Amino acid sequence: MLNEAIKNAASIAIGGHVRPDGDCVGSCLGLYRYMKEQFPDKQIDVYLESIPAPFLFLKGADEIRHEILADQIYDLFIALDCGDKGRLGFSAPLFESAKKTFCVDHHVSNQAFANENHIEPDASSTSELVYDLLGVDNISKNTAECLYLGMVHDTGVFRHSCTHPSTMRAAASLMEKGIDFTKIITETFDEKTFAQNQILGYALVNSRLLLNGRGVASSISRQTMESYEVLPKQLDGIVNQLKLTKGADIAIFMYELENGSYKVSLRSTEAVDVSCVAGRFGGGGHARAAGVNMSGTVDEILENLLPVIEEQL
Ligand code: AMP
Ligand code: MN
Ligand code: MN
Repeated sequence: MLNEAIKNAASIAIGGHVRPDGDCVGSCLGLYRYMKEQFPDKQIDVYLESIPAPFLFLKGADEIRHEILADQIYDLFIALDCGDKGRLGFSAPLFESAKKTFCVDHHVSNQAFANENHIEPDASSTSELVYDLLGVDNISKNTAECLYLGMVHDTGVFRHSCTHPSTMRAAASLMEKGIDFTKIITETFDEKTFAQNQILGYALVNSRLLLNGRGVASSISRQTMESYEVLPKQLDGIVNQLKLTKGADIAIFMYELENGSYKVSLRSTEAVDVSCVAGRFGGGGHARAAGVNMSGTVDEILENLLPVIEEQL
């Protein structure tokens, strides 16, 4: 039980996955806020890489730690929205050294890597799982903003197939806390900077159809990111737009990483389980949304990916 583990620990660290997305930030800050309010005497710290600017309004965002101290050992490390240990990135040493570890997650690829695990692959989001674990009565307005944001992002505003009646009921309870849900959706999910819209346009203009129109792919080089002055964490949403191409059962979007390899994002309909496709190359995720890092040129990566996708079409 998570509550039991929290009660028994004097010092607690929370960590999420590299390049944190809305669900990762929402679940981590939501749990952080809850624990700060309920257990003011405990030492509680949250570790995440730098987060997208629209999420900075969340209470506690300015307290996120981006580096670890070598000699810091926590009684409890809670990993959220993280499918495997490696995805923790810079906070992994704190997970390794913690006296106890707990994982709350919804990735089907999660192999239960902590001492205690609460993994529900069917759940809409880690934020919904955190909502369930905390109990609605213990959730403040500040915590509600975090968890609602996380649910909005992983469900594509309560639209993807991972959205369940339970998700809508949880969202309704969070609305009853008095949060500004319109602002959260508009300013953190819909709104893009001018540069983000420009690079989205670039990605769409240069997208190509594959697999007889059943697939669509596009890519962005580092050079292009630099010329539009856009950071990798600002490219979220492009793959979802590609996925809206009529007839496409799979969308592939990739952007170049610092070392010349590519971060590949996959989105699909029921026709393809992309967590299996990503898994074949060392990545992971969910049936309809998955990711993997791959080396090679864009064409080489597609040459590797397409036969694996075709097995399912
Ligand atoms: P993304 O395409 O980055 O939005 O990721 C889609 C889903 O796949 C998210 O749930 C990620 O946590 C997961 N994911 C992305 N990249 C990786 C990776 N390299 N390894 C494992 N899971 C990943
Ligand atoms: Mn995530
Ligand atoms: Mn998630």
